[in-house]
Amino acid sequence: MKNPVHMFRNHITIAKLISLALLFSPLWGFWWFDAPQQDVGNYSVLTTWSYFLFQNIPVAIVYTSVCLLAFAGFVITTFIRLSVVRLPLMLIMLIGWAAELLFLDINGTGSNQNLFWILWQELALGTEVFGGYAPDIIRDCTFVVILGIALCASPARRFSVPGIFGLLPIMSGTLVAGVTIYTKGATQAFPIPFGTLSNAAIVLASTSSGDTGFMKLDGGGVVVNRDVEIEGTVDPIFNKVVMIMDESVRGDYLSLNNATQKTTPFLKATGNLVNFGVAISGANCSAISRPIFRFGMRQSDLPNRWREGLTKPTFWQFAHKAGYKTVHIDMWNGPMSFRNGLSLAEKTLIDSNIHDVSQDPAYLRDKKVVYSLLQVLKDEEPAFIYVEKLGVHFPYSNKYPPDFHPFSVPARSDIAYRHPFVPSVIHSLLYPQSPLFGKSTPSTDSDRETVVDRESVVDYEHAIAWSVDEFFRRLLPAVDLSKTLIIYTSDHGQNLLPHHATHCSTTNAAPSEAYVPLFAITSVPEFKQRLEKGAAHGFGGFSHFEVFPTLLLAMGYDPGWVKRSYGPSLMDSPSPERKFMIGSPDLQPMMIPADRNFIPTSSLSEAN
Ligand SMILES: [Zn+2]
Repeated sequence: MKNPVHMFRNHITIAKLISLALLFSPLWGFWWFDAPQQDVGNYSVLTTWSYFLFQNIPVAIVYTSVCLLAFAGFVITTFIRLSVVRLPLMLIMLIGWAAELLFLDINGTGSNQNLFWILWQELALGTEVFGGYAPDIIRDCTFVVILGIALCASPARRFSVPGIFGLLPIMSGTLVAGVTIYTKGATQAFPIPFGTLSNAAIVLASTSSGDTGFMKLDGGGVVVNRDVEIEGTVDPIFNKVVMIMDESVRGDYLSLNNATQKTTPFLKATGNLVNFGVAISGANCSAISRPIFRFGMRQSDLPNRWREGLTKPTFWQFAHKAGYKTVHIDMWNGPMSFRNGLSLAEKTLIDSNIHDVSQDPAYLRDKKVVYSLLQVLKDEEPAFIYVEKLGVHFPYSNKYPPDFHPFSVPARSDIAYRHPFVPSVIHSLLYPQSPLFGKSTPSTDSDRETVVDRESVVDYEHAIAWSVDEFFRRLLPAVDLSKTLIIYTSDHGQNLLPHHATHCSTTNAAPSEAYVPLFAITSVPEFKQRLEKGAAHGFGGFSHFEVFPTLLLAMGYDPGWVKRSYGPSLMDSPSPERKFMIGSPDLQPMMIPADRNFIPTSSLSEAN
């Protein structure tokens, strides 16, 4: 009887070959995937190979041999007769494949050590983020599982090899890890899944040994550099200095910076607000951007003097020295969490910790911030308050109440919406004029995101209206601005293009991942006028690097000394050539120029 199972068994060799071809097909942009972006800093086997070919022939020969061996090792495993050898090897390698295809689907790039390091740092957000990517995870895993059935099945006797061939993938794995470690990570692109597995293993080994590029959790951090000597007298200007660090809020999505946005009408009408325009964060990922900020690192120190930067005094120490009580309001972490490089030693510098991660649903947490902050502001005692809001971290749809509709959403019947299950190849045939066609040519964010993923952009705008505008609407009327300075920014921006990580990219990082809002609110006349002067001169040209010195000025430190030690503040002209850091500080960090392709969405819509 010829049932499908028999058919499958009779044609297993063909089924295996087809499955292998299908497994590799996403790398050419088939199905719902886009071909990996070939760009500077991308780690693909072909780019690496051609680079070696022109640089160093012996190295090219070694690299070619390792890659061929690895490729053969993967292909041959599916034809190993002995199932105790074939199945475990196949299973491990298919897990590597699933991970790699997921990276390609979500991020548009292959994996690398930086990416694994960042995943490890962001583990606290795990369930949250995995929830948001659930459809991608399901379709990519299903793809690998279906192909895996044929690849794991017993091979036909005629086309099979003995168990000893299982040594081939094991040897390849060892060689790949060896080359990666020997080149200190300079070479980490190898045929899938060997690069994936070895990079994950190397990062896991280095993080679990405690050498994470961060101060260790036991409190090894915050060694104050003895060279930092404060000059001049300290003469505090404010009774309360409030630094609000938001999460994933992109600067040009606020009405303040973009006339076409309806997200923050309250802020736009707020008096005593000094807006600095769209600023740049120190890095595109919380785990890097927030320590840079707390330790007052300078752009010129990065990325190479990161370790030294961690020995600088934090803003907590400066606040204490100026006579302020230190308060940390944190809506992301419980008291025993050490995210974003916050060590036990640094925690001892904080006089009052306010956490509330129990608020359910989570979008209520920023409402709780207002309550806690107003309580602290009621005290007579001078205080420096650092607020880490919940903000609008991906996924956006659960960052505002379901019944919250602050503005109407225009219906867009003209858009060529690409369903996530329609392959990009087919979509571009159906809609040759759609911006998806010829995707590799960089275009501006706004036109493409409105076409491709309008729904999540609408969610993002709603989340900002709730988390930013509603937050200030509740907070500001109750604050005595005659003795208080509030500075507001976000830890990084957001890339809203499909097939891109929203932030933390380690290759092809778009400047939008660093676009953040930046404004100050106070009614202290002299300080406010100096801020206004700075904003008038440097509007749209500032970065996080100018905020730390501004906090020191507000705490009353000597302006001359602050400028010599920490560079210009928001009262000065900003430094030219803004850059932000990407990647892991101890692996392959890079500084990315932010202004080369800067096109604010407002100027686009005005031009239309
Ligand atoms: Zn973040």
